[in-house]
This record gives sequence, C-alpha cells and structure tokens, in this order.
Amino acid sequence: MDNLKNLRGTVDLFPDQLIKWQNVEKILLEQLSRASIKEIRTPILEMTELFIRGIGEGTDVVSKEMYTFLDRGERSCTLRPEGTASVARALIQNGISSNPLQKLWYMGPMFRYERPQAGRQRQFHQLGVEFIGHDSVRSDVEIIVLAWDILGKLGIKELNLEINTLGDTNDRSNFQKSFLKWLETNKDSLDLDSQNRISKNPLRILDTKNLQTKKVLENAPRLFNFLSEKSHNRYLDLKRQLEVLKIPYVENFNLVRGLDYYTHTAFEITSGALGSQATVCGGGRYDDLIKQMGGPNTPAIGFAIGLERLILLAGKELEIPRNTDIYIINQGLIAESLAMDLSRKLRNYDLLVELDLSGASFSKQFRKANKLKSKSIIVIGDDEAVNGEFTIRLFDQSGNGNENEEEVISFENDIKLENWINNNLLVK
Ligand code: ATP
Ligand code: MG
Repeated sequence: MDNLKNLRGTVDLFPDQLIKWQNVEKILLEQLSRASIKEIRTPILEMTELFIRGIGEGTDVVSKEMYTFLDRGERSCTLRPEGTASVARALIQNGISSNPLQKLWYMGPMFRYERPQAGRQRQFHQLGVEFIGHDSVRSDVEIIVLAWDILGKLGIKELNLEINTLGDTNDRSNFQKSFLKWLETNKDSLDLDSQNRISKNPLRILDTKNLQTKKVLENAPRLFNFLSEKSHNRYLDLKRQLEVLKIPYVENFNLVRGLDYYTHTAFEITSGALGSQATVCGGGRYDDLIKQMGGPNTPAIGFAIGLERLILLAGKELEIPRNTDIYIINQGLIAESLAMDLSRKLRNYDLLVELDLSGASFSKQFRKANKLKSKSIIVIGDDEAVNGEFTIRLFDQSGNGNENEEEVISFENDIKLENWINNNLLVK
C-alpha cells in the first residue's frame, strides 16, 4: 500500500514551527483584548447556500474555490472559505437587535481550492475582526488602525496600506451601467477571464492581474466619478482622519476586493517583504450584507489577516523557544513517585518544568538537562528518597558551581522551596 499523505495544500505543523505560531497568536490575542474586541466562534462547516448568498455567485471564491459536498442527509455543505458570512448568519440567527453594536474577532482554518504556493494553501488560517452596527467613518479608521498596529506590533516591515471607496449600492449601479457599456465596446481587448466576468461580476474585472487588460482599463470609466456627494465626502473624511493619525496610505482606484458584499471603504495591507502573495490583510465595509442575508439593516466593517503570511513575515525573535526552568532528574521506584509529586507542585508556579520519564542513568538524564539548557536541576534518587530531601541547584553551564545557588530542601518544606524559586528563577 502507498504511504498515506496529507492532502495537497494542507500542512502539518510540528513543535519547532508552532513556537512562532503560538507567540504570534499570543500577541494577536493581547492586542484584541486590549481593544476590547470579543471573540466569536462559528462552525467550520456551513450550508453551501450561506456562501452563495453571502459572498456572491460570481466571485472566484464561490465559483471555483469552495470545498462543497453532500452529507449523508443529502444536504449541500461547504467548509467555510472565509469568516464574515458565518458571523453575519450567527448574529442574525441570534437576533442582532438585542445587541446592535458589537466588536468581534474570530480565528481559525478556512478552505479554498486554490493552486498552493508559498503563502497560499488550501487549508489556511485567518484572524478576522468585524465591527457590527458601526457606520461612522471613525469605525473605518479604528478598523484600519487596528490592523495596522497589529502588524506593527509583530515587527512586520515594509507595510503598505492601500485604500479605495466603492460607494454605496446606488453609486455602484450608476457606475456599473456606464462601465458595462464601455466593456461591451472594448470586450475584444480584454483577456478571456475578464470577458467571462462581464455578465457575472463586472466589477471584479477592475481587480485583474492581466497586464494588457490593466492597460486597457486605464481608459474605462472610474467608479470614483460616480460617487454621490455624500459618499465622496465620507471618503475625504476617512483620508483626513488617517492623515491626522499619521497612517500613510496609497489610493488604489482598482482595489475592489474579491467578495461581492463590500461598500464604501475597501483596503488592503501588503508587505514588500512577501514577494508575490503580498497581501497580508484585506478588509472593507459591508453595509448591505446583513440585510441581504435576511437580517435588519445593519452597517458593518471588518478585515481578515492571513496567518500563514503573518508567520512568514513576523520576526525571528518569535521563533525562540522558552527555556526549561527546572529539569527533574530521577531514578528508583520511590524516587520516581516523589519526583512526579514534586513536578506537580512546581507547575503551580509560572515555571517550565520537565520531568524526565526515561528511567535512564543519572548521567544520561544529566546530559539531557544540559542539552536543554535548563536553568536549574533537581536530582532525586534512592538517597533522596531515604533522607526525605532533595537538592535543587542552578545549572551552571560554565561548570563553576556556586554554593549559594544550591539548596537542600525537604519534600515537605514548601516555604523554603518557594523562597528558592523566587530568589533564583522568578526574579531576573
Ligand atoms: P489573494 O488575492 O491573496 O487571493 P484574497 O483577496 O482572496 O487574497 P481575502 O479573501 O481578502 O483574500 O482574505 C484575506 C487574507 O487571507 C488575504 O489577504 C491573505 O493574507 C489570506 N489568504 C487568502 N487566501 C489564502 C490562501 N489560499 N492561503 C493563505 N492565505 C490566504
Ligand atoms: Mg484569493
């Protein structure tokens, strides 16, 4: 039989790699909690219809990238490709009106059937933030600043913020009429993919990566010129507030984002350090989504950060594992049980304690403690078991022992143990 393998576009993560993931996640959670944003968890598996209605049939995600299958009850199910539609569904189902203003975050795996490459997988992870019920320009600014500061806190360099406005539904349909006319006359100069989008999702053509089409599009009508005065002023206000906060931005009139539900503000944060999959964060306002999905009229704005790309970008210092504080070398029947008991006691302090379970010779266990660069060691053998006391000592890598850094402590003397820990391991 062939060896079993993981599916293409999925990855296994091992302890050494997960140090960085855990450190990054810790910083993310701290930042979110400091901004008083609350977590929401929704199922990974949803009815397919949720994404068709929520994201839009003409989008790449829905038309080409979804993992969709029939379950045993013949219901069409989809592994979520993004988080916003599920959050909207959960809130509508739970009755938004009882809690109309919410700041929420979610984190977890998403699934898209794409061509895997560096920073692009089929199972990947996103951190998303959604401000529900907020319609002020200030909420747009806070969302952008939040994403910007999170990336800054992780030490990510060469960040670029691109912004655009998509206007409201009215502005867009006015633009679309004129854009469609233009597309029909210029159809033959467009790439095939874009030609196909004319009937399905014309706005997405603006987002094309095809250089020839990009060039042709330079002469197309601009959504910007179809904005109502209100939408236009909203956009000017956004820019002004970003300037006050000294957040540098670049305007990109072709930034339309892949999903159908965006209105007004759309933004992306890229990093020059990432190569071709440069977008770390994408976000925007989606004032009509919740109503379209059957909920009350509820404006909202959010963003999603791709964690794999974040990990590629975050600093090397986040890869450094935490040091072992105490390594417990132990051997012998009673000694081993005393050691187990002591390890439980020690773990009540904020210490990383490793209990050697090998039963190997003292010298072997000693070498392991040395290799781990444990800050201190405890040795428990038959003598210690008989005497009812053990020695704890700072593990001196240089070999120059210092008597003050070692202490004989009875198994019952918790106060002495605590003092030694406080003086030698916790301070510094
Ligand atoms: P891209 O243009 O890179 O395909 P997107 O517009 O499809 O991105 P969004 O749906 O806005 O991406 O998702 C937000 C973020 O999630 C992206 O900026 C990226 O960091 C990350 N992301 C999206 N798709 C993938 C993927 N297949 N693998 C890894 N990360 C991804
Ligand atoms: Mg994509």
